Amino acid sequence: MSETVALSGTGGRETRTTCPYCGVGCGVIASAASPVSFVGPATISVRGDDAHPANFGRLCSKGSALAETTGLDGRLLAPEVGGRRADWNQALDTVASRLADVLASDGPDAIGFYLSGQLLTEDYYVANKLMKGFLGTANVDTNSRLCMASSVAGHKRAFGEDVVPGLYADLEEADLVVLVGSNFAWCHPILHQRLLAARQRRGTRIITIDPRATATASDSDLHLALAPGSDVLLFNGLLAHLVRRGAIDQAYIDRATRGFAEAAELASADASTLYRIATGCGLDAADVLAFYEAFETTARTVTVYSQGVNQSAHGTDKVNAIVNCHLATGRIGRPGMGPFSITGQPNAMGGREVGGLANQLAAHMGFDDPAAIDRVARFWQAPRMARRAGLKAVDLFEAVGDGRIRFLWVMGTNPAASMPAAGRVRRALERCPFVVVSDITRTETSRHAHVLLPALGWGEKDGTVTNSERRISRQRAFLPAPGEARADWRIVVDVARRLGFADAFDYTGPAAVFREHAALSGFENEGERLFDIGGLATISDSDYDDLDPTLWPKPAVGLAALLHSSASSACPSSACPSSASPSSASPSMGLDANHDADPDANPDTNPDDGRLLGQGRFPTRDGRAGFIAVRHEGVAEAVDADYPLALNSGRLRDQWHTMTRTGRVPRLMANTPEPACDLSPVDAARAGISDGDLIRLDSRQGFVRCLARIVPGQRPGQLFLPMHWSAAYAANAAAGTLATPVQDPHSGQPELKQVPVRLTREARGWEGLLITRRDLRPTGLVHWSRQAVDGGWTYALAGSESVNEGILLARRLVDPTLVPTLSEYIDKRGAVFRAAATDPAGALAEAILVAPPGRLPSRDWLLSLLAEPHPLDRDERRALLSGRAPKPMPAIGRIICSCFSIGIHQIRSAIVGGCTTVDDVGRSCRAGTNCGSCRAEIKGVIDASREPATSEA
Ligand code: SF4
Repeated sequence: MSETVALSGTGGRETRTTCPYCGVGCGVIASAASPVSFVGPATISVRGDDAHPANFGRLCSKGSALAETTGLDGRLLAPEVGGRRADWNQALDTVASRLADVLASDGPDAIGFYLSGQLLTEDYYVANKLMKGFLGTANVDTNSRLCMASSVAGHKRAFGEDVVPGLYADLEEADLVVLVGSNFAWCHPILHQRLLAARQRRGTRIITIDPRATATASDSDLHLALAPGSDVLLFNGLLAHLVRRGAIDQAYIDRATRGFAEAAELASADASTLYRIATGCGLDAADVLAFYEAFETTARTVTVYSQGVNQSAHGTDKVNAIVNCHLATGRIGRPGMGPFSITGQPNAMGGREVGGLANQLAAHMGFDDPAAIDRVARFWQAPRMARRAGLKAVDLFEAVGDGRIRFLWVMGTNPAASMPAAGRVRRALERCPFVVVSDITRTETSRHAHVLLPALGWGEKDGTVTNSERRISRQRAFLPAPGEARADWRIVVDVARRLGFADAFDYTGPAAVFREHAALSGFENEGERLFDIGGLATISDSDYDDLDPTLWPKPAVGLAALLHSSASSACPSSACPSSASPSSASPSMGLDANHDADPDANPDTNPDDGRLLGQGRFPTRDGRAGFIAVRHEGVAEAVDADYPLALNSGRLRDQWHTMTRTGRVPRLMANTPEPACDLSPVDAARAGISDGDLIRLDSRQGFVRCLARIVPGQRPGQLFLPMHWSAAYAANAAAGTLATPVQDPHSGQPELKQVPVRLTREARGWEGLLITRRDLRPTGLVHWSRQAVDGGWTYALAGSESVNEGILLARRLVDPTLVPTLSEYIDKRGAVFRAAATDPAGALAEAILVAPPGRLPSRDWLLSLLAEPHPLDRDERRALLSGRAPKPMPAIGRIICSCFSIGIHQIRSAIVGGCTTVDDVGRSCRAGTNCGSCRAEIKGVIDASREPATSEA
């Protein structure tokens, strides 16, 4: 299949690629004008790929808006050295010579790389190879450490290898789906929709286990709002329940596992009574029992878990507590059954495959096996092989801070905003003698860069990613490289060559890197490592270009045929011995050992269906899975009198990471335009806080300011703050600033879900609004946040000063070049200020409003002037200063459906008009009828309309 095809009659072309946001890994078809030259979003469109097995044509709100993120606003377009523009040779020479200097003077462990789940597998592979094989250190970690390292550690402890046994199809073949620590509806929306569609067909029961009343919980049959950190107790209780009720698969336990007795004994002691479990988890005993009985009686059960499990100081134990219950019932790798870790980032799995974590080696081999270290060294012909695990993310930045790391290269991530104790990370970066940052935009991290390297972004780069079900998909370029930006893999290779490693880094393109990665997975792999894509080691460049989404370890049927028929191209690297690898010639891709006929194997397990471990044989020395005896350890850092509330953090429906892409899309900003912390009415009343107040959260690490959002379903004592707001979007709202660097002892994953904080109401003397076409970062204000809107930006401003002082502060933000055109109004008491400036054509360029809190006029009309610029007439000029629109504009309220810009007021009108279901609302006003990401929120509005009045922004 050709993956780039001409569009008949348009002169354009379509490219099959993959969404760069979450771990679902949806297929996207992107269309760009031809001849391809960068002319902005208007010439690009995207739609879901009907043929991609992750999404079958659907995209969520973020994926649907991908075309709107391809503009050059804010892009890095040329290298910089010392803050000055440089050419590539100068930049790369500087990086290489500093690397060589640090290596010579301080040794390899003074070097650190910090990578990203946004990188493609090929980028990851070469960075890992350079560090572990040629610089001699494993100090290469990734922001995936913050995402799913606990699942990796849990899988290795239980299965012997970091393997996700199941497939997305299992969600559709299950009768019970348990969602643990996952706001599935918002974080993995397309999978959630597949699950809901399956429920329509087969009546799947959905149980959500999450401290928060999320959109996912509202779509569930049962919501267990457990106390944060009590997951191990809950699942130990489940294991004990299964044992007590004789609901375990003893034959499977005897045949396929070890350690059951110890795990069951500790679980029974830990979760000795239903009362202890219910009180320890903060749950109703009847709900706990209902969950246990559902799990006990439903063979086809999938347990999906995500960041709520992983991002914890006891994340690995939580993973194993869940896996223990599936092992006890033999429900692993069979249709509609299994534990299922869902990754947050698009290529977290690809990073795991190449060994992008500091404690991994490569191709699912580890530092705990000297033979594996030797094997990788021989394969790479590595002159300086790392022999032990390196520093994990939190420890890596500690080492930067205390001077042990003297050269740091950050690729495609923003640790200065996203790491726990982000303030400490920023100070560490400030002190580091040499920092290299490769990225697509400037970030808080890039401010500290001595060398800044422009990287390619989505739509420009070319390579592969692996999604949560082990499916490798191509990300393909359909846009030219903007400015001088280069692929990450190429930047690393160019540095490696300058360091004298040209032979080992002689790749001609990403296909060559992929071939070597595939060959390493099959090298001396007689089936002991399930990750074996050695069959792809000889894939030709054109077959790589056309690669269909491919589940490992078994290739897609079409691909297998293609592989056998394709002319095999020799691996271009002299270090690549893949042709000698027995498995590289095998279309079974290393699963043979796992596919031996087993008389006791589960009868409904088909070794060719893409699931793993279903036959009860595991990639461990004895072939058995390990039960892990785990105990409920309580919270990592308890709340106390000084910090009495527990702060949780997570994603918003329409945002991604630190908003570097999604924050620039007006319709993605419209659902949650300002940073807001969810708190319960009880906590709000105790602190004297009303909905919409400016509040301050303090932890032992730092503080943030944001708005209060009082949510009736929020548990008292617990707060929730979205993780996305960086310094580019708000003055002080980065959740990472508050988080503590407490880590899971097994995975090194930091605790991000229960940070002790103190909550106070901030006195607000004034508030203001700046509407502008400019992209600016206000300074000297207590609080600001900004929102992309059509035609520019709006800045919400606030301060504790008097209104008069607020007016002075806000007026300073006006573009000095526009001051001559500024028309200003201030009321007699000096309490209300309005000003507007126009461009040479007489259209609105900038407007500023200041008033006492709660007295700003509606902004909808002003925004329409920015979105549709035209010379202002006399009525409009008057209206600008009066603060009243010349003609009434219907207020639609906060946007719920971002595809059709349908606001909450319109949805409420539809409900008042008789709509009682989400489908009714869709028929009435179209909300929820395109990507479907907002359907859970629409249901929430319908449910709320049946209850007594609640607050809603
Ligand atoms: Fe992208 Fe949405 Fe699919 Fe995730 S669910 S891969 S964000 S389209």
